[in-house]
Amino acid sequence: MSATTRPAPAPPEPGKLTLVAPRRAKPPRHLADLTSAERRQAVAELGERPFRADQLSRHYFARLVDDPAQMTDLPAAARERLSAELMPPLLTRVRALDCDGGATRKTVWRLFDGTLVESVLMRYPDRVTMCVSSQAGCGMNCPFCATGQAGLTRNLSTAEIVEQVVAGARALARGQIAGGPGRVSNVVFMGMGEPLANYKAVLGAIRRITDPVPHGLGISQRSVTVSTVGLVPAIEKLAAEGLSVRLAVSLHAPDDELRDELVPINTRWKVREVLDAAWAYADRTGRRVSIEYAMIRDVNDQAWRADLLGRLLKGRLAHVNLIPLNPTPGSKWTASRPRDEREFVARLEAHGVPVTVRDTRGREIDGACGQLAAATE
Ligand code: SAH
Repeated sequence: MSATTRPAPAPPEPGKLTLVAPRRAKPPRHLADLTSAERRQAVAELGERPFRADQLSRHYFARLVDDPAQMTDLPAAARERLSAELMPPLLTRVRALDCDGGATRKTVWRLFDGTLVESVLMRYPDRVTMCVSSQAGCGMNCPFCATGQAGLTRNLSTAEIVEQVVAGARALARGQIAGGPGRVSNVVFMGMGEPLANYKAVLGAIRRITDPVPHGLGISQRSVTVSTVGLVPAIEKLAAEGLSVRLAVSLHAPDDELRDELVPINTRWKVREVLDAAWAYADRTGRRVSIEYAMIRDVNDQAWRADLLGRLLKGRLAHVNLIPLNPTPGSKWTASRPRDEREFVARLEAHGVPVTVRDTRGREIDGACGQLAAATE
């Protein structure tokens, strides 16, 4: 519990069903919300010596401790107070589902206000990727995406995002994931939400994830991917941060007519503007931009669209990630036929555009792209 007192929510009117928790309250403050300097200041304000902040950070980011009793280098009283104030529990596990022989684990989390979000851990022979949520729900309303259907509930705080990575890191370090003890090597903002619509918290999370141990988790910036529908001003802002995180742009159509439908924010920023921002990002960072393209049967998978996409991307620092559509319940759309997918790949390759077809990890547990949390609600 946070020590901050909050006004108690008004009692529900008799006979009226309260289905959602009041959402105005902010998540409790956590050390992962703060920079190292802010942590020292917070510790000092709690009446402790500032170096205690570094000890706490080491417990949290390096040792992945979640039990204050293990912080034996802190005096017992300080341990209780500092962990209660700066390491409040933010995520409560509702359920965890494993598939792919235990190499993929989806976790549904309940946040302090009852909101549900999900994260997915995917272990590969050479890396472990955590796919994290940046918002509860999403306001982008893409019709093929399960998260988009329910609308936006709220932004996650920096610490609520970081905790998803730390939870995965703990499970790995404790040998709870098939394949033995390990570490998180990659983070992708491809869970619920539009990360660039929650810019400040996401940037904070990127910093905590990539800051060197013990200030942060010490994961390489190059191993972090921010995926966006294409919020052009935010892409430009991110490019100016001087980071080397990878940008993924969810394009899904090379022409405005279709993209207006598949990614409605396209009515605000057109394909050309989004791609221009992507190329500026690539120039600035030297990082190849990943172009995400869900393959939807007879909707966006025609050979002529592959040619158009190939012409747009030819000679650019780009890589296409084709994602077989993961149909959402009740959707009229389904994944492309294998031969159409092969033809699409061949046409892109003919333009010299690198392309891969993404694997479909987590399908049986609704952990695949765009499916997150829908089944739990
Ligand atoms: N809002 C961000 C990140 C979250 S979604 C974005 O749109 O990029 C991560 C990726 O999964 C995006 O490329 C998204 O378009 C894709 N996706 C969403 N629903 C999908 C579905 N049903 N099948 C396949 N890919 C999907």
